[in-house]
Amino acid sequence: MKQVKITAMTVFVTDIPVRLMRRHGSGDVAGSVKNAILKLETDAGITGWGDAAPWAVFTGTIEANVAALHVYLRPLLIGANPHRIEELMAAADHAVVGHPEAKAAMEMALFDIVGQASGLPVAELLGGRCRDDIPLSFSVADPDVDRDMDMVKRLYGEGLRLFKMKTGFAGHAADLKRMERFRKELPADAELRIDYNQGMVTHEAIRQLRDVEAFQPTFIEQPVPGHQRAALAEITRALDTPVLADESVFTPGDALLVAANRMADLVSIKIMKHGGMLAGRKIAAICEAAGIACYGGDMFETGIAHLAGTHMIAATPNISLGCEFYQARYFLERDLLAKPFPIENGHVIVPKTPGLGVEVDEGRVRHYAVETLK
Ligand code: MG
Repeated sequence: MKQVKITAMTVFVTDIPVRLMRRHGSGDVAGSVKNAILKLETDAGITGWGDAAPWAVFTGTIEANVAALHVYLRPLLIGANPHRIEELMAAADHAVVGHPEAKAAMEMALFDIVGQASGLPVAELLGGRCRDDIPLSFSVADPDVDRDMDMVKRLYGEGLRLFKMKTGFAGHAADLKRMERFRKELPADAELRIDYNQGMVTHEAIRQLRDVEAFQPTFIEQPVPGHQRAALAEITRALDTPVLADESVFTPGDALLVAANRMADLVSIKIMKHGGMLAGRKIAAICEAAGIACYGGDMFETGIAHLAGTHMIAATPNISLGCEFYQARYFLERDLLAKPFPIENGHVIVPKTPGLGVEVDEGRVRHYAVETLK
């Protein structure tokens, strides 16, 4: 195989309007979302794409991630051999602390190049697929409950069966009412999952979550602040319903702590939290050793990052609870992929074409770009 070299790098800061209102225990997302879209060009004529999707109240800010890519990671990438992904990711950690979204963008662009150069989808580079499609979960997060229920019913009609209700922003009684309505208006095979995004008052959590258990959710996600892992462990012990850790697990060290002490029953894997697919797989492996199944979470991503997450889940048996890659199709005004992000009958279809597997519409990237850094 001919040696490939990275010759140019561009960061587009896109500002894409969104179609839905999202409310979470940790804050609202409405109007538009800003992402840092990374384009890497090579001397072989192959282009790799990445997407950094930060959320200021969760992983980090767009401004810091643009700086991480443009100032700190660019010197590592220009002139580099994109096949040396592990080495480049270690160098990225050495060059700048944190900024997992920028590192996820860098890693997915490298995998995109290597996949295209070798004629293989990214899942095949990660060990090969153990699944060809992934059940899709939609986040029930619109404060306009009527509008939200209409959307849920429409998606049920399109084949979706997993629904994750965002709670912890409007009070306990209002949360229970929404759950009651969901159970009343949706058929029994619509699966209900609950995500507080850290929105509970810790000393009230166990008593209130016992009320929630009456609606038989599959799991209850991150009821208390991420750093309150002792309280999370106490809730996990007290409830019959599995408790899922999201904001409590960013790094492999966090995963080790949570797994070794059984502080949660399940863990959410997000490439934007952990800094890429390889880091996500390390966490999935630590969890697997403790019998903790994982879920494919995301941030406010475009289809580019969704594709990376899809390949990671396809190649990782222990990320077995489905994924929430609905933003590209249902949340953004328009996605950045040239073809729609692949969803059929409530499932994400794992691409079989080389690299990330779906082309990026560069014209659309430029249309939504409010800043371009070369
Ligand atoms: Mg969550």
